[in-house]
Amino acid sequence: MINMTRSKTKMPEQDPQIRNKNFDEVTTGYTEEMAIHEAMRCLKCRKHPCMTEGCPVHNHIPDFIAKVTEGEFEEAYQILKQTTTLPAVCGRVCPQYLQCEGSCVRAKKGKPVAIGALERFVADWHRHHKDKDAPRDIKLNGYKVAVIGSGPAGITCAGDLADMGYEVTIFEREDILGGVLAYGIPEFRLPKEILELEVYSLNSKGVHIETGKALGKDFTLDDLLEKQGFHAVFIGNGAGKPTKLGIPGAELEGVVSAADYLSKINLENTLPESRKIAIIGGGNVAMDACRAAMRGPKAEKVYVVYRRSLLEMPADPTEIQEAMDEGIEFMYLTGPLEVLGENGKVTGLKCQKMFLSDPDESGRRSPVPLKDSEFVLDVDCIIEAIGNGSDNACADGVKTSEGKGYITVDDDTFATSRKGVYAGGDTVTGPKTVISAMGAGKKAAIAISEYLK
Ligand SMILES: Cc1cc2nc3c(=O)[nH]c(=O)nc-3n(C[C@H](O)[C@H](O)[C@H](O)COP(=O)(O)OP(=O)(O)OC[C@H]3O[C@@H](n4cnc5c(N)ncnc54)[C@H](O)[C@@H]3O)c2cc1C
Repeated sequence: MINMTRSKTKMPEQDPQIRNKNFDEVTTGYTEEMAIHEAMRCLKCRKHPCMTEGCPVHNHIPDFIAKVTEGEFEEAYQILKQTTTLPAVCGRVCPQYLQCEGSCVRAKKGKPVAIGALERFVADWHRHHKDKDAPRDIKLNGYKVAVIGSGPAGITCAGDLADMGYEVTIFEREDILGGVLAYGIPEFRLPKEILELEVYSLNSKGVHIETGKALGKDFTLDDLLEKQGFHAVFIGNGAGKPTKLGIPGAELEGVVSAADYLSKINLENTLPESRKIAIIGGGNVAMDACRAAMRGPKAEKVYVVYRRSLLEMPADPTEIQEAMDEGIEFMYLTGPLEVLGENGKVTGLKCQKMFLSDPDESGRRSPVPLKDSEFVLDVDCIIEAIGNGSDNACADGVKTSEGKGYITVDDDTFATSRKGVYAGGDTVTGPKTVISAMGAGKKAAIAISEYLK
C-alpha cells in the first residue's frame, strides 16, 4: 500500500567509534523486511524522473522497486542487470542525492525513496542466493574492439559491446580490474570481494582481459588499429594524475598524494604508520583519505584542512557527516602555506586563516588570506587531495584540451579526432562520478556499433 507518511528506512551501520579503527563496511545493508518497507514508499509516479532524468544509465528504477515490494528480489536484480553491470557498486558509491534520489518526486515534500540502498540490497541478495553468472553464448559479429582501462567507463563499454556481439579485449595498466573502484575507494565503503564479483562478470560475456598492459608503454593506437586487427578503440583511462600542492617543503618525506596513499592501502594492503595527519582538500577524495588515515594503527589525530567553509565543501554531505562522526577534525577557512620538516621528513604544516570574499560574477566566493593569522599544525603526514588531471600522452594522434589535457570528443558520439577511436569517462570530463563514467561507456558502445555497421 502506498503511504506518503511512511518514513525512510535507515540503513544499519557500525558505531562510529568502533568503525573508525577497522576497514569493515560502514553500512551493513537492509534486511528483506527493511527493503520491502522502503520499496513501498515509491509513489509509482507517472513520469519517473528518477530513471529518465536522474540516472545516466537509465536503470528501470520504478520496475525494480515494484518487484522488491512483491518480494521478487531475483526478478528485481534481472531488471537492473538490463542496464547496469555494476549494481552492487553503484548502490554503494553513487551520489544518489544528486541523481536518482535527487529527482525522486517524494524528495519535493520530504525524503526520497532510498533507491541506492534498494539497488544495493537487490544486488547483495542475488550474490547471496544465486550462483555466479554462467558463461553466455553470444554470437560474434566478426568485429574486434579494444577497450583501454577497466574503470566504470571501460567496463560498461566492454560489457555492452560484448552483449552486441563484438569481440572485446580490455587492456588494463594495473594488475587488477576496476580502476578507481579498486585502488581509490577504500574497503570500508566498497568491499573488494563485491567489486571483484561484478567486474569479473565480464568473463561470462566472453570479454578478453589483459592486465599489466598500458597504452603508450606496451603498445600504441597504431599497433591496435593497424597491426592487431582491432576495428575500433575505446579509451577510458581516467584522470589519475594528482595535482601537486606547490608550496615550499612539499617534496619532504611524508607528503603524499591521496591517490598514492589510497592505492597503497588498497593494492598493497599496507596501513599507514603516521600519528598526526593533515588532509588538504574538501572533496570526496579528501573524505576517503581522512577516513582511511583515521583507521591507521598509530593514528591519533586527523585534520581536514580546507580553504573555504563547510557550505562550499564539494564532498557528499553524508561522507562529511560520517567523517565527523569518526572523530576527524575539520579546519575550515584554512590554507596551507608551507610544509615544515627536519632531516627530510615532515614535522608540521604552516597554515593561515582565510575569509571569503564577496561573490564574484559567477556567484563564487574566493578565499582571501587573513593578515597575521599564521599557525602551525603538528603533523607527520600530509595528504594532498586537491584534484586530479589526465595523462593522455599515451593516445597518439588524439586531440586533447589545452591545459588539463582531457581527450576532446564529439558530445553525442564520443568520437575523438582520430577515426575509429572513441573515449569517455574522467579522461574526457575530468574527475566526475562512477555513474557518469558508466553513462559515457554506454553511449560510446552504441556509437562504436553504429560506426562499425
Ligand atoms: C578516492 C576516490 C573516491 C571516489 N569516490 C567516488 C564515489 O564515492 N562515488 C562516485 O560516483 N565517484 C567517486 N569517485 C570518482 C569515480 O571513481 C570516477 O569518476 C570514476 O572511477 C571514473 O571512471 P573511469 O572509468 O573514467 O576512470 P577510472 O576509474 O580512473 O579508470 C581508468 C582505468 O584506466 C587504467 N589506465 C590508465 N592509463 C592507462 C593506460 N595508458 N593503459 C591502460 N590502462 C590505463 C587505470 O589503471 C584505470 O584502471 C572517486 C574517485 C576517487 C579518486
